[in-house]
Amino acid sequence: MEYAASSFANLSKKALSKLKICDNKILRKCLGLIKSTPTHIIHHMAAELPGEYRFQLATAKEISKLIAYNLPLADSLINQPLTYSTSYTMIFTEFEPMFREIEKLPSSTTNSKIKVDIDFFKNITKSKKEANEEQIYQLFNKKLNDLKDRNIETIFTDGSVKEDSTKAAFYHNKSNTIRSFHTNKRMASMTAELIAFIKAIDFAITHQINRLAILTDSKSGVMALTNEDSNNYLTIEIRNKIQNSNLEIVEFPFIPNHSGIHQNNIVDNAAKNADRNGEFIHLGWTIDDACKEIERILTIKWQRHYSIISNDKGKKYYQMFPKISKHPWFKFLNNKIEANLIKQMNRTLTGHAFRNETLAKFNIIQSSNCETCQVDETPEHIIFKCTKFNTTRNLFTKIQEASSIQEFYKNNQKTFYYTIINFLKQIKAQI
Ligand SMILES: [Zn+2]
Repeated sequence: MEYAASSFANLSKKALSKLKICDNKILRKCLGLIKSTPTHIIHHMAAELPGEYRFQLATAKEISKLIAYNLPLADSLINQPLTYSTSYTMIFTEFEPMFREIEKLPSSTTNSKIKVDIDFFKNITKSKKEANEEQIYQLFNKKLNDLKDRNIETIFTDGSVKEDSTKAAFYHNKSNTIRSFHTNKRMASMTAELIAFIKAIDFAITHQINRLAILTDSKSGVMALTNEDSNNYLTIEIRNKIQNSNLEIVEFPFIPNHSGIHQNNIVDNAAKNADRNGEFIHLGWTIDDACKEIERILTIKWQRHYSIISNDKGKKYYQMFPKISKHPWFKFLNNKIEANLIKQMNRTLTGHAFRNETLAKFNIIQSSNCETCQVDETPEHIIFKCTKFNTTRNLFTKIQEASSIQEFYKNNQKTFYYTIINFLKQIKAQI
């Protein structure tokens, strides 16, 4: 679907609708939905952006890379704007201020001074969950003493992200120095950590510290530094800075976030409050952060669009699910549930199912009524009302108490899916 999609952001309505038909058909099939289901519900349930937004995002991703890698086309987008409308020019104009702030990738040198250590619990426990407070504290002290014995100075770092601000701090306990920084961009928490690393390294270089350990609770931040083919300018900058400095060795030991480690608390607090008392720094976008931000903006647009369509179609579904979610509901099921039941649940949620009310609309059968109860046979009728299933329903008091799927969802958010799926399983009526 997204092959060559970076040239699809400005498709004609006709061409776009052809691709959307294909997109809808595939998603409908995967979710087990039927043809009459409104397409905005299909995309909501699949937790996928509709085609037009996905094409815009694919284009934006490509432009971000063009700029970061400084490819020839980047120059013509930025410095010699094309006068005709293409997918690239359209998306570049749409997000121009962001694209202009994407940082170019520096060339990277191999690094021989960095040593990472993410195995804090080595040979003790498998993870933080299995360790008790005392164990963590002891391991931490052991690590600290080991660094001291090897004549390595320690700096603690932390990052924090809140709404439109990315914050970072470091704490050098030997000199009792705390510094914090903030930007006005929404970046990933890993980026926040990388900012703290850079600032800590700058501090070490200025103060002629030759052997340094940066203690962090960000495994992803530490791991990012080992990637030699990184497309993140911050990790390249960190690696280059260390290599080209007088620093002999820089170790990055991962330390789990733990309230008993007071150095952790100090730097944690400093990072959280950096937007109030830290130094403002101007920082360009990494490719990933820029793409995530554009995806967020496009999702807000899709959310607006979804709400508007829902005024007209799929009102009941919207009452239950007014917000666009990142993942489909079935991603969070703990127990394994067979696909057929998930599909039945999907049809139940949309109200469009293989039952008389929908079948009559397609003229497959004449009457939309339930043969026993003589009212419209909808999934809701089957679950909450139909007398055919009274015996089973007697075993499900919560279902007995509710009269509609919306009401049931509202009052039983935690057990909602399991209860209905169990009920459907027992009554063996295909919905
Ligand atoms: Zn009935």
